[in-house]
Amino acid sequence: MTTDAIVGIGSNLCGPIEQVQNAIARLSRLASTEVLAQSSLYMSSPQGPQDQQDFCNAVVLIRTQLSAVELLFSLQAIEDEFGRVKTRHWGERIIDLDIIFFGQDKITQDTPHLVVPHPYALERDFVVIPVLEVTPNWVLPCGTHLAETVNEFDSHNLQKLASP
Ligand code: ADP
Ligand code: MG
Repeated sequence: MTTDAIVGIGSNLCGPIEQVQNAIARLSRLASTEVLAQSSLYMSSPQGPQDQQDFCNAVVLIRTQLSAVELLFSLQAIEDEFGRVKTRHWGERIIDLDIIFFGQDKITQDTPHLVVPHPYALERDFVVIPVLEVTPNWVLPCGTHLAETVNEFDSHNLQKLASP
């Protein structure tokens, strides 16, 4: 069985653009998983503490044979490989890999270590805009198209980088 899922990627340390590109390359080598599409890279100002660098963000659409928990553990292993160190809440990070959507699954079941859809996904322009770029027809667990739920974003915060 395979599942189509969206992985969100973010970085604001040690060459964020290169970190995100390296993370996409690394995800393309993930076991039992295929990268179907990658979004453009976007720059945005930080969500949490403001005394940190801007973030580079992107998403990839993957098709995987992994379960959601196996995917989470694989993403955490890649974060470790990249040398991610936990700092303050919503603080600077060399790489952040989140499961944004996992098929149409809704995962809560009192498992704080894995909540899907990612709790803030729908509020974040740097998530929703790249998701719609790779999969304009994505359907949420409730059956609604993601595109229909999106309000107008104040997108001056979000800068799309030219493709390499
Ligand atoms: P954030 O991504 O919210 O800035 P972290 O990357 O530090 O924060 O992750 C904190 C915890 O969030 C992780 O230990 C992980 O178990 C949990 N988590 C819950 N849901 C998800 C998800 N959908 N994707 C990634 N991590 C998640
Ligand atoms: Mg994370």
